Amino acid sequence: MAKDKDLKKPKQKKQRRYKRKQRSTSIFFLLWAAFSAVALLIVLIFGFSQHFTLVETHTQEIQRNVIQKGKQITLSIEATMQPNTPPLSEKEYHAYLRYLSRVNDVGALIFDKEGKLLCPKDDYGDDLSYAKIAKLLDKKLGNENGPVVLQTENEYIYAVRLSYFGAEGYLYVYETMEILDSVAHQMVLKTVMTAIFVLLLTFAVSSGISGWLTKPITEMTEKAKLFAAGDFGVDFRGGDYGSEMVELANTLNFARDEIFKADRMQKELIANVSHDFKTPLTMIKAYSSMIKEISGDNPEKRNKHVQVIIDEADRLTSLVEDLLDLSKLRAGINELKPTKFDLSAYTYEILERFAYLQETQGFDLRAEIDDGVWTEADEHKIGQVLYNLIGNAVNYTGEDKKVLVQVKKSSETTAYFAVSDTGAGIPEEELPTIWQRYYRSSEMHKRPVKGTGLGLSIVKIILELHGFKFGVKSEVGKGSTFYVVFPLREE
Ligand code: ADP
Repeated sequence: MAKDKDLKKPKQKKQRRYKRKQRSTSIFFLLWAAFSAVALLIVLIFGFSQHFTLVETHTQEIQRNVIQKGKQITLSIEATMQPNTPPLSEKEYHAYLRYLSRVNDVGALIFDKEGKLLCPKDDYGDDLSYAKIAKLLDKKLGNENGPVVLQTENEYIYAVRLSYFGAEGYLYVYETMEILDSVAHQMVLKTVMTAIFVLLLTFAVSSGISGWLTKPITEMTEKAKLFAAGDFGVDFRGGDYGSEMVELANTLNFARDEIFKADRMQKELIANVSHDFKTPLTMIKAYSSMIKEISGDNPEKRNKHVQVIIDEADRLTSLVEDLLDLSKLRAGINELKPTKFDLSAYTYEILERFAYLQETQGFDLRAEIDDGVWTEADEHKIGQVLYNLIGNAVNYTGEDKKVLVQVKKSSETTAYFAVSDTGAGIPEEELPTIWQRYYRSSEMHKRPVKGTGLGLSIVKIILELHGFKFGVKSEVGKGSTFYVVFPLREE
């Protein structure tokens, strides 16, 4: 049961992550929505402004037309009423008004004060509607004869007061607004059609652009998946998709190379460390068996064998310590605690730890150390650096067993530490890699100081953390000098 539970957990997590990915909107949709919104807004603004301008222009035109035609029809009617003009019969008036209405392309009527249609007399609407208009005109004109111009819901009107065969009435000239409605309808239709066209166009344009934009992203995503699955051979390309894509591709390629390097180093580290663990463990086991089976009763031999076991256990301990140091430094757990200290005195102190080599193994350890050279750094970590560098010089120096340690003021602001040996030196092509190597097995070399193969990696990380300049000068067959440039401080 417990096992099942444990197995489910990562799966659920994966699914949740996948879901989150699904919820995000595609570039195509975003582009399409943005383009469509902007385009539709433009179409609507344009459509509405066109609509209002057209309605306005048409209204003005109808107004002008009704006034002009109204005046003309009034003049024509008045002309028939002149005293020197032969009077028209009522029937002739009907025909004449109908003629004027047709020729001027407007409606023209005469009705009396109560709204009763007088001319042209036939079936034009019902009298009631004229009654309303008659009342309105009466109110508008008051004692005047007119003309009066007014707009009702669906008509534009020009009217004057006149007397028709003795009856008080009105000449009523009008034009309907129907044409306006049809213009407005046309306009709406045109706007809707344009909007549909624009939507289709934006769909096409945004799918084109998003396709172009997302192509390199999709390609890179595919490659990133391969890369995530452990294929370091993938090559990210930005192509001709703009500098941002090229930059992204370059960054991904850089990340790939870095991860590849880290991965390779990690694998090398594991392989080398396991190898280095195995050797002392084998020795410890072998010598323990020897004590048990052979030398247990022989104190002299037994002590010798126990010493081997102790030495090998020490080796394992320092390997574990160095590994821990390295991983802490790399993880940034060990933050620097800089203090001011006397570099000269501190170097002497470190050198003291190697003094036994002088006495027991004939080493010639020389010191050229100026007094009172002060610096500022993390004292404990610098101690590790000095110890590792001097330890290496002791390990790799030549037959003469000479090692020279120097500390001096090198300028107004800098102090110089160097340790030189007379060993085989390091070939030029190996110089950059000695710092990167996590480990190098030197079993062939008999070392007076235990080395784990991690010494220079630790030195490099510590000095880089401090931002100090450091390096190595080496000549094959003559020896090497490792140096560090410290900041100089007042005591
Ligand atoms: P270790 O000395 O334990 O192998 P280091 O990280 O200290 O590991 O050094 C890495 C390698 O650099 C060594 O294995 C050796 O090949 C080379 N090296 C370091 N110091 C010296 C030196 N003073 N002279 C020659 N080679 C050196």
